[in-house]
Amino acid sequence: MPARTDKTTDPHLLAGLLLARRGQAYFSRKLNELRNDRLDAPSLVEGWTRRHVVAHVGLNARALTRLTEWAATGVETPMYASPTERDQEIEFAATLPARALRNLCAHAAVHLDVEWRDLSEEAWHAPVRTALGRVVPASETVWMRTREVWVHAVDLENGGSFDDFPAELVDRLLADVVGAWRRRLGPDGVPQLVLEPVDRERAVPVAEFGTVADGTASPEAVALRGTAADLTRWATGRGGAGVVASNGGPVPAPPRWL
Ligand code: ZN
Repeated sequence: MPARTDKTTDPHLLAGLLLARRGQAYFSRKLNELRNDRLDAPSLVEGWTRRHVVAHVGLNARALTRLTEWAATGVETPMYASPTERDQEIEFAATLPARALRNLCAHAAVHLDVEWRDLSEEAWHAPVRTALGRVVPASETVWMRTREVWVHAVDLENGGSFDDFPAELVDRLLADVVGAWRRRLGPDGVPQLVLEPVDRERAVPVAEFGTVADGTASPEAVALRGTAADLTRWATGRGGAGVVASNGGPVPAPPRWL
């Protein structure tokens, strides 16, 4: 059989697809290493067992497949009928026998990947709507999937770590989280913080300080320092290990991400 390849030739998109596929492989590896009887244990997502995480990641692939189908056909198919239905679907799938749950997750991922491969250049640009109501080009499904598979691989709590993430992923995740905070909370609502990754050249201001155009903190800002991976883990709500505050105070809890 000839090797299947992506229809798109856009180098930016192909790089994004590679990162999503690496993330899927990372998630699958962390899941495959877990025996069935360990799926009932809690995950790092509050209130969710590992089963819930696996169910959610599988159902997320199905939901994103609905968006790619929307882009390919022009027939509007939302990710989820409603937030309640989304949650009920996760609760139900989490109760499936382990093998069925694993199959759901694996098959949904393959289906999404096939959809991506076959999407035309034109369809990649077609507008679709996310579960949060944002209108984005279908190409955004690649990043939406990327952040799910990498971060939830850590949530399985089976040795996955932000320290394993490629640097480009860490930087994009952190920018994504801070961007989401700004959109939801506004410039005055976000915490008055500057994130200073010790292993990067530039700081990431959370609030818009008057004098941070060059990436250095203004005097009134509290800086949080740690590796970029540690700061990103903190920002996504997965704990403040490795992060310290410049004023010597406690590290604050981050706002919700998604
Ligand atoms: Zn998720």
